[in-house]
Amino acid sequence: MPAQAPGSAAEPDGLEDRLQRFATIWSRAVFPVTATSLTRPEIERHLLPLARDLSDALHARPFDPAPAHRVGAALVAAHCTDPDALSRTLGVVDSYLVLYCGGDGESAALEELRARCARLQHALAAGFAQALRERTLVEQEAIARSALVARSFAEQALHATEARFRAVFEGATIGIGIADLEGNILEVNGALTRMFGGLEHHVRGRRVSEWVHPEDAPHVWKLYGELVRGERDDFRVEKPFYRGDGTVLWTNLTVSLLRDSDGRPQYQLALMEDTTERRLLNLRLRYEATHDSLTGLPNRTLFFERLDKVLSSGDGTRFGLCYLDLDGFKAINDSLGHAAGDRLLVEVADRLQSVATRPGEMVARLGGDEFVALTTGTDTEQQADELAHRILGALATPIRLDGRELTVRGSVGIVEGPAGERGPAEVLRSADITMYRAKAAGGNRFERADPEADARAITRHGLTTALPAALDRGEFFIEYQPLVHLGDGSVHGAEALVRWCHPQHGVLGPDRFIPLAEHTGLIVPLGRWVLQEAVRQARFWNRSHADGGPLRINVNLSPTQLHHPNLVADTVDVLERSGLDPGALCLEVTESALIGADEDLLKPLRQLAEMGVDIALDDFGTGYSNLANLRRLPVSVLKLDRSFTQSMQRHPIDPVDLKIVEGIVSLAHSLELAVTVEGVETGAQAEQLRELGCDTAQGWYYARPGAPDRIHSLVLADAV
Ligand code: C2E
Ligand code: CA
Ligand code: CA
Repeated sequence: MPAQAPGSAAEPDGLEDRLQRFATIWSRAVFPVTATSLTRPEIERHLLPLARDLSDALHARPFDPAPAHRVGAALVAAHCTDPDALSRTLGVVDSYLVLYCGGDGESAALEELRARCARLQHALAAGFAQALRERTLVEQEAIARSALVARSFAEQALHATEARFRAVFEGATIGIGIADLEGNILEVNGALTRMFGGLEHHVRGRRVSEWVHPEDAPHVWKLYGELVRGERDDFRVEKPFYRGDGTVLWTNLTVSLLRDSDGRPQYQLALMEDTTERRLLNLRLRYEATHDSLTGLPNRTLFFERLDKVLSSGDGTRFGLCYLDLDGFKAINDSLGHAAGDRLLVEVADRLQSVATRPGEMVARLGGDEFVALTTGTDTEQQADELAHRILGALATPIRLDGRELTVRGSVGIVEGPAGERGPAEVLRSADITMYRAKAAGGNRFERADPEADARAITRHGLTTALPAALDRGEFFIEYQPLVHLGDGSVHGAEALVRWCHPQHGVLGPDRFIPLAEHTGLIVPLGRWVLQEAVRQARFWNRSHADGGPLRINVNLSPTQLHHPNLVADTVDVLERSGLDPGALCLEVTESALIGADEDLLKPLRQLAEMGVDIALDDFGTGYSNLANLRRLPVSVLKLDRSFTQSMQRHPIDPVDLKIVEGIVSLAHSLELAVTVEGVETGAQAEQLRELGCDTAQGWYYARPGAPDRIHSLVLADAV
């Protein structure tokens, strides 16, 4: 096959066309709001490479939104600085980027492209805002420079030629005004008049002191006083003014003192730049960055800012936080569709907002169907409870949606306490955990945080999330505990017991993590690993000393593994790969996992038993199963629970206990089941159990679980 020349025809057909069309649409959208002398087609040519950057970023592997950031900056550089230019651009990207540049992928791929497109829009907006900020700084410096130039011009003009001064004054694009030291405005240029609405009498002849504005920075008028008294030569502030029609003009204002030829203060010179639009854009960007676009509620960012502020305030401030998660929202969303789900969330947001209106209360949406309400004050313990009541009450009335009434319930976790002890992340995590407790208790209720429950949940949660990586990193290992013939004390085999060498918590026993692995399903790969490893180890023992019959290996199976469709295939595979005789493997299944088991569940075990694998009923005697049932189970070994062994330790031994064990053993033997006892800690127990007819035993009396070579040496000792 001829190799394709690099770069040639690598572009899919039509992408170039579609990019072109995308750039056309984009240019049409932004052209009306750009303040440049470029024509629309010129802008289009300018946007085409930017469109290509966005398209490339949409498909790049790995995904990186940085090019969109640069596109945002490029817009500013191209003088598309109007607030609308950004929102129109975002609109075009949102509607057309995936459509024109997405290719014809499958719906799963499209879903991903849409998610990427949203992230590109965020990056673009961020790039735009940053570039605008930087440009503003540069412009401010330019103004400061021109202030110096203008001042020297003005000073010269006052002493020299009026005509030259006029030229500078009128030609300037920034607003310039001159006032005397009493604050009477003597001269203003055209640019300044236009900023104030175009009528000269709105400015000239007025007094500077009339320009007090409620949003003036506190130090503005102090600086002004110092200037007119000759104590400083200039100052620069951001200052709002009322225009004649009552609207507000925001400016970057530089005021300088003009001195006469003897250095005495004479006039003041004001230079101002109109920043109203930029300010509006910044406010809008800030609003968009801090509010949820669906419900209009404050979003996570703003909520964290508020919470952070509350938590870092001193003087006995307390906070109360209610973390709300709707019960069963996913089901509504899945059955009625996302549009209906969205409307439901909007309604919930409205209701929450209407019940959290007391001073110091705030509601925010954290995302999805999760909301928070915050309250501050001194008696937040009671306030938070009340707030939670109001929240649940707000949800009590069904919500009408498309003609049907939906009952929406929620679970609330409350965290309350003094400011200054915990950070926002910690508080929110505690609220989240508490909310889950409310959910686990059935939902439609609130629970209060409890530090002990938190700590337990955090460790449990931490261990659960660390499990998968732990398996990949090889943090698990197996200890082996010998199984011994009660008759002659010789080693008959070993049980594999898994441990986790956790990087922070040290060695953890299976009781700490098997239930978690069971819960998350990780038990399947973990159990497979244990089986593989233990079988490999048994094969190794048996290869190195074949005399005295094969050593048997016992491996525990959890209920989830028992239900897994690949159990038989995986086990066969492991045995075949290692070359271990199936008769040397014993799988231990707890009695409780088999209570009430139907034929479907027993079938894989039956298949394994037919292949020669032993099945042991572990912890026997704790599950209260019907002894008559034993007959239909494919088991060949009973492992008597440790509690029986413990009863052999008492003095005198309860004759009833003896009778029970004796009965079980004789029933087992009549069913041709071998009996193993667990937890043998003393010689007396061993002797008693031997007399009762038990076949094999396991326990600290013989050996604690340990490294595989320990079994090796025990077997060698037997052989001697
Ligand atoms: P189990 O199958 O009943 O295992 C016997 C437990 O008794 C082991 O605890 C063992 O260390 C302990 N033991 C042995 N001899 C004595 C003794 O003389 N006195 C006392 N007091 N205890 C003794 P371990 O290792 O903590 O295992 C606990 C449970 O974890 C096991 O109970 C088993 O159900 C489960 N497990 C262990 N490894 C695995 C595995 O690989 N997969 C699965 N699914 N479960 C496992
Ligand atoms: Ca076991
Ligand atoms: Ca057991």
